[in-house]
Amino acid sequence: MFENKKIFVLGMGRSGISVARLLANKNEVVITDIKNDNENDVEDLEKIGVKVIITEDQASIFDNSFDAVIKNPGIKLDHPVVLKALEFNIPILTELEVAYRYLPDVKIVGITGSNGKTTTTTITYEILKEAGLPVYLAGNIGIPLCSMLSNIKDGDILTLEISSHQLINFDQFKADIAVLTNLSPVHLDHFGTYEKYKMNKLTIFNHQTDSDLAIVNKGDSEVYELSKGLKAQKLYFSSKGKADIYIDNEYIVYGDSKFKLSDIKLRGIHNYENVMVAILIAKSFDVSDEVIKKVLGEFKGVAHRIEFVRTLNGRDFYNDSKSTNVTSTITALKSFNNDVVLILGGLDRGHSFDDLVPYLSHTKHIVCYGETKDRIKEFALKNNVDVSVVDNVSEAAKEAYLVSKAGDTILLSPACASWDQFKNFELRGDEFKKTVKNL
Ligand code: ADP
Repeated sequence: MFENKKIFVLGMGRSGISVARLLANKNEVVITDIKNDNENDVEDLEKIGVKVIITEDQASIFDNSFDAVIKNPGIKLDHPVVLKALEFNIPILTELEVAYRYLPDVKIVGITGSNGKTTTTTITYEILKEAGLPVYLAGNIGIPLCSMLSNIKDGDILTLEISSHQLINFDQFKADIAVLTNLSPVHLDHFGTYEKYKMNKLTIFNHQTDSDLAIVNKGDSEVYELSKGLKAQKLYFSSKGKADIYIDNEYIVYGDSKFKLSDIKLRGIHNYENVMVAILIAKSFDVSDEVIKKVLGEFKGVAHRIEFVRTLNGRDFYNDSKSTNVTSTITALKSFNNDVVLILGGLDRGHSFDDLVPYLSHTKHIVCYGETKDRIKEFALKNNVDVSVVDNVSEAAKEAYLVSKAGDTILLSPACASWDQFKNFELRGDEFKKTVKNL
């Protein structure tokens, strides 16, 4: 708990604002950003005594009189304030670590990994909720834990999606159940090297003892290797061979429990991995197979992640706008066995599309748009895939329908960020869904 401290909140995102609100009562709080996106937030914060400073030069208002820096997860580790705080030996924390110190006696499920965090956290939450347990959803999913502290009471369960950026300087935070879904080299611009990124991910298991639970992916050799040194009891899942929970023929198998893959609404091996984690967690809370099966039969996926939109004249439309890189589009392509009309395009970071080639065997047509459209056209022609070029995602949806036939899947999985035409991938996916619904 913080009392009579001088706190510097770096970044006015959702998490920064909620932590400033939490601490304002008993501490002196300064919050700063380089721009002010919302006048109302500033007014609200000032009313409760928070000092709001908008400046390009945040380091100039920071000195060694502060007791702690609370850093927005997105702010880089070489930010001048971070460097200054290190020099002054001032602790740098994240909103999650602060929130942890205010929690009553709860059970924490913390889920991290390079991919699958949001999906896994959401399925887990849905199952525990369906079982009637007192469960909350928070974390990187867009709901800062600080913002919901007042609702949380003894005995509640918190399912938390935790990003690598939130795993920094976990001083006290401990998850009763910690999950590492998988590892791949992402966010290297932030962490410098893959080794450092991997070590950062291991922080999810910090402070665990042998009465806690670590859930890890046996099918991911790097995760498996790293898990060997963990203190907690380990439960393994795998889509590649036997483990505590695994896939055998057409079933997910966990002890005597069996879950038929065709009864699970989500598609793709990657999603079965996410489901296996959720089952392990649910089982640790003694949830019945019936409840788990009910949720798995209904859960359509989180919006914008291979999200089923509609069937129109035999064509199934899927929105995978969250696929902002080639790796994620590969995952989506691996999820379909029928013919696919693939919509690609968006911000041009100069990245290559060549890694898609081995996964294009079912892709009968590519529709491309956005900044990358010319490079994608060239890529499609080089690889003998039919291609259409249009200007935006809405035209792309219409063109994809025109070139498709009954039985095809039409998949928006752009392999590019959305920022050439949209503020975020959610708005891109919404535009696609709106067009598809009006076709
Ligand atoms: P995150 O929250 O980690 O970004 P999401 O659940 O939002 O993950 O899924 C984002 C994308 O990552 C999905 O559209 C899919 O392409 C891919 N993905 C999801 N789960 C997995 C997994 N278990 N393994 C590999 N890729 C996955």
